[in-house]
Amino acid sequence: MPLNRLTENVYELRPQRLGACRVYVVIDGGRWLLIDAGNHRRTPAQVAALRRELGLGPPEVLLITHWHPDHLGGSADLRRAWGVPVALHAADHDCAAGRVRPSLSSIGWAEHHFADNHPRYFEPDLAPADGDEFRVGSLSVRAVHSPGHSPGHTAYYLAERGVLFIGDALGGKGGTILGDPRLFSSAPAASLASLKRLSGLDFAWLAAGHQLHHSPELPALLRRWTARWR
Ligand SMILES: [Zn+2]
Ligand SMILES: [Zn+2]
Repeated sequence: MPLNRLTENVYELRPQRLGACRVYVVIDGGRWLLIDAGNHRRTPAQVAALRRELGLGPPEVLLITHWHPDHLGGSADLRRAWGVPVALHAADHDCAAGRVRPSLSSIGWAEHHFADNHPRYFEPDLAPADGDEFRVGSLSVRAVHSPGHSPGHTAYYLAERGVLFIGDALGGKGGTILGDPRLFSSAPAASLASLKRLSGLDFAWLAAGHQLHHSPELPALLRRWTARWR
């Protein structure tokens, strides 16, 4: 099966192409959703294989943490193939639709040009606001607006399983959990405020866009670390 299991109901699609983000899957009672879309050449084929093997219908929704092409990559194709609605915070819609192009110095530009992440621009279907809930079977995934890395950056929180899908709100060099927020953000002060807020949640899994960590100590670690930055 093209899935790695994190914990009950929560999986990751097998590793993506170099430079594409991790794609997470929440499944309950035959219903499922995806968090981020990975590479447009890879994810739609993986989703098709998964549907065949598990006998699943299309995902309920595709929750995108932010517009950067390594996360948005497969969205347009999944949407076209199966009508999967794509949810992205309204502040990132202009970039997703190609109405605004990233500046040459921005993080978004860097992720655009790294590896093979060129997106197909499209208009997202849903604009989740902070606190919005997405049901999947008996579970509920909550949107937590966490601007900084991009204006619309949104983490998704599955409280019932202690999993925080944190996107690129957190980025350390070389696979470390914690890096200087100024290196991975277009708005460092906003990033730091977002991380402080996220560190108040209770989670044991930090399912990030490019990393995966498991420890009950993670919220405390994040709180100690954010306290060091002014
Ligand atoms: Zn990003
Ligand atoms: Zn990324």
